[in-house]
Amino acid sequence: MIVAEKKPLEAIARMLEGSGRVLAVGCGTCVTVCFSGGSKEVATLAASLRMKRSIEDRPLAVVEAMVQRQCEWEYLEPLAEQMKNVDAVLSLGCGVGVQTLAERFPTMRILPALNTLFMGLPSAQGVWEERCQGCGSCVLDKTGGICPVSRCAKQLFNGPCGGSQNGRCEVDEATPCAWHMIWERAEALGMSEDLMSIEPPKDWGTSRDGGMRRMVRNDLRLPEDQDKEGNE
Ligand code: SF4
Ligand code: SF4
Repeated sequence: MIVAEKKPLEAIARMLEGSGRVLAVGCGTCVTVCFSGGSKEVATLAASLRMKRSIEDRPLAVVEAMVQRQCEWEYLEPLAEQMKNVDAVLSLGCGVGVQTLAERFPTMRILPALNTLFMGLPSAQGVWEERCQGCGSCVLDKTGGICPVSRCAKQLFNGPCGGSQNGRCEVDEATPCAWHMIWERAEALGMSEDLMSIEPPKDWGTSRDGGMRRMVRNDLRLPEDQDKEGNE
């Protein structure tokens, strides 16, 4: 899932300084599961903002809304009517949700209530950890399902750096050494010999260093879109 956390209330209130009526929109997918942008969080944030502005004697009306998925235009259509009566939208979606709203409603101010952190999983009650950086060229087949890109602080591909102590990463003792785990997993799977061959330098051309990436599936595209591009 995409993991995000709520911005401090003061920061959100600052973004809404000039507003008198806002629409707070949650998202029913990743940010609901990580307890940052679901219906409960929308209600709590809306109540906090109303109370804050009421104490300051500058009332703020906050209309609450939920969509199943903020990162797809189709789900945003029901919001069009509600947007007619507000001067800003506060998104409790991830950064993709915020931008999808901004693209669909370009004349409306869309403001982020969350800080988007990473792609990860809940590793324990109340704890989320990063597991993938979307490098575009997955190597999990070679590393026993443990990602050296997101879990090794130095993004090493040929074994540990030498600073690993008792299975912990030298950069942060709270973090297990990814390569210690990779080795243990390989031994358990009887695949430790596979780790003896040298992995060539990774081609980072598929990662995000070259700017925004795009995935195109021509078999799924509309013929008119393909024609349009062909004529450009
Ligand atoms: S190797 Fe790349 S695609 Fe695979 S989990 Fe790690 S970051 Fe994600
Ligand atoms: S201690 Fe392990 S996880 Fe940390 S940087 Fe070195 S190899 Fe990577």
